[in-house]
Amino acid sequence: MPIATTNPATGQTLKTYDPMSPEQIDAAIERADLAYRQLRGTTVDQRGRWLNAAADLLEAERDEIARLMTTEMGKTYASARAEVTKCAAACRFYAAKAAGFLADEPADAGAVKATRAFVRYQPIGPVLAVMPWNFPLWQVLRFAAPALMAGNTGLLKHASNVPQTALLLEDLFRRAGFPEGAFTTLLVGSAEVDRVLSDPRVRAATLTGSEGAGRSIAQIAGRELKKTVLELGGSDPFVVMPSADLDRAAEVATTARCQNNGQSCIAAKRFIVHADVFDAFAEKFAANMSALRIGDPMDPDTDVGPLASEGGRDEIHAQVRDAVDKGATVLCGGELPAGPGWFYPPTVVTDLRPEMRMWSEEVFGPVAGLYRVSSYDEAIEVANGTSFGLGSNAWTRDPEEQERFAVDLDAGNVFVNGMTTSYPELPFGGVKNSGYGRELSALGMREFCNTKTVWVG
Ligand code: NDP
Repeated sequence: MPIATTNPATGQTLKTYDPMSPEQIDAAIERADLAYRQLRGTTVDQRGRWLNAAADLLEAERDEIARLMTTEMGKTYASARAEVTKCAAACRFYAAKAAGFLADEPADAGAVKATRAFVRYQPIGPVLAVMPWNFPLWQVLRFAAPALMAGNTGLLKHASNVPQTALLLEDLFRRAGFPEGAFTTLLVGSAEVDRVLSDPRVRAATLTGSEGAGRSIAQIAGRELKKTVLELGGSDPFVVMPSADLDRAAEVATTARCQNNGQSCIAAKRFIVHADVFDAFAEKFAANMSALRIGDPMDPDTDVGPLASEGGRDEIHAQVRDAVDKGATVLCGGELPAGPGWFYPPTVVTDLRPEMRMWSEEVFGPVAGLYRVSSYDEAIEVANGTSFGLGSNAWTRDPEEQERFAVDLDAGNVFVNGMTTSYPELPFGGVKNSGYGRELSALGMREFCNTKTVWVG
């Protein structure tokens, strides 16, 4: 895959980059290692001042950064601006909270008498971050902010289609005051990940991306005995029960499916609806999906911009065609629009069966699968009948049912009467083939810390 900026709204390649040479990669790792030695000796307060300065820069340059993201991967300008704002808030969150998250924790020394015992959180060194294009700023910031606050340094291998955003991130942390090498962008293809992660100076890796990339990185890290956090795909269920507020559920379902032009790991993808309310929900949902405006992502009236790549669009269209050829019904959308750019209409498909690709695969675009179920147990069976387990949503006003969903849904998070979102305050991650480990909150920061037991006799 070439390292290049290609505008998905036009298909035009605007800028290409040569990948870094092995010598340049080695020099970057060396700088990251030296910066780690420097950073771990700084105070949390100092690192917090740098991270707050990064937040100031993000806020001051929000429009420019948002325009770049829209140009590189096609998200609407409005959602790109919101992403920059969210990133600034996450920087401020970790700048404020890190001292508490990293504070020594008194421990009970147990049977062995000690004058004192405690747990201390210390940095581990340079961490490789392999990141996707879909939230090109947020995915990186949610790793970088806690990692830098903990005293680690970051080596970013960003997706090959967002090189300018990747370079902007390196520049951001440098201008914010972090030492040279604290955060470095490696302009490399995925084949170079093995070289970087095998280097003894690189201590761990985090990946957000596909299952295939996750397996590959976990294999390398297994061989090298290095810690990984993997945030992979999802095929989140959105269950609607008879007591749900149907208007609200249909409205949130539309946003949850089409946010970021349908390209989010935590987008609701499978809409599992009780037979008692199926027809009413399907009608409202299809009407909402059809009403979304597709077009130029820079236009403030646009709800859904293009998909990030031609290959991504071909893939979701092939998944829809496969379902239709095997007997599924399209309630809206499903046709490739004419003209330039990689646009795809919001689509709702029902009458799905297990032999169709859409039943078991993740659909990474604005395409919803609608499933009819006749009981709570059947809803759980369909919801959990996937190899993924990232997010999940349940819509019910019955308190007992809410409690049961919280227990029975096999996922890293359950949002009841709301849409799955990632917040700095809450841990984020999945189970099953959606990966392991957690990002955000104190847990995300401690994933890349040495949790050191200290015992003093
Ligand atoms: P990829 O997993 O291919 O890309 C994500 C990142 O991983 C990129 O930086 C990519 O680099 C890198 N990468 C890809 N393959 C390897 C590998 N074998 N070893 C090391 N690094 C690798 O995702 P895609 O962009 O192809 O999207 C396809 C699917 O990924 C989606 O359908 C979705 O399931 C999942 N995805 C999930 C996301 C999430 O938020 N959880 C985000 C984006 C995608 P390069 O760009 O150079 O190939």
